[in-house]
Amino acid sequence: MLLQVPQLAQLPWLVHGFSTRRGGVSRLPNSRSGSAPGKDLNLTKSKGDSARNVAENRRRLMVRLRAKKMQLVTQRQVHSDLIHVLNSSLPSDFPSAGDGLVTDRAGLLLSVTVADCLPILLVDTKQRVVAALHCGWRGTVRRIAQKGVGLLKQTYGSRDRDLRAAIGPGIRVCCYRVGEEVRDEFEGQFSYASQLFARCEEPSPLQTRYPLLFHYNTESHAAFDNLLYLDLVQSNILQLLEAGVAATRIYADAPCTSCHPEMFFSHRRDAGQTDRPTGRMMGVVGIRDMPARKAPSLRDQG
Ligand SMILES: [Zn+2]
Repeated sequence: MLLQVPQLAQLPWLVHGFSTRRGGVSRLPNSRSGSAPGKDLNLTKSKGDSARNVAENRRRLMVRLRAKKMQLVTQRQVHSDLIHVLNSSLPSDFPSAGDGLVTDRAGLLLSVTVADCLPILLVDTKQRVVAALHCGWRGTVRRIAQKGVGLLKQTYGSRDRDLRAAIGPGIRVCCYRVGEEVRDEFEGQFSYASQLFARCEEPSPLQTRYPLLFHYNTESHAAFDNLLYLDLVQSNILQLLEAGVAATRIYADAPCTSCHPEMFFSHRRDAGQTDRPTGRMMGVVGIRDMPARKAPSLRDQG
């Protein structure tokens, strides 16, 4: 149900994790999972699933995180670089549009919903500030990860050595075929864009197994030769490094969503299976309301 980064799980005040598709009550039309039928943990309302199932799935996730009393904060994600800082009470128009949330307030559980796009969590371990970012290719080309770190520094004075970043499960270079127009956008934005794309002469094993999945959007490609793949993870790692996060404090070894149907929803993989959307997972991060430390009594001091 939940993947966590061990280095972050050690922090008692921090709540964090990346949900998988397992351990829920939904039965998605395209479930062909190793998870038993009717056990999908879909976390957003969608065609083919009920609001009641989603509520129960969210409740289970909160219980698993030991965060039942926290307030789950969601956004209307629009593939932008908009990041909202929540440092007082929640604005009345929430959930507003945007793709990033930042807070230093205890009791809020920031979330991004994903099914291939990368969920990225930022943590300032010293100031106790957290951020959740939704990073698809559009947000990535707009440098949302780099901007997120910049916002932490600007708003809270975060220092490089106190920053941690966790990149959750998403579509990796093995499966993320894109068109030339995506490469053009990256080349317009990053001097190192050529490092972010792989060319492949042959269809990937996934394409051989499920050719119909890749049948759409072939106009811009010369059939199956010379396919272009985007490394979204590497692109975000480079942004985090450039923003000042140390390489040893970027945790980025989460699996590929498209390669693991038993573990993850994948929009790319499942959208071709039926005309219905796939489920959604979440990356979440928040600050636990810790009981105030007891002042030592006179007797304790001897
Ligand atoms: Zn893959």
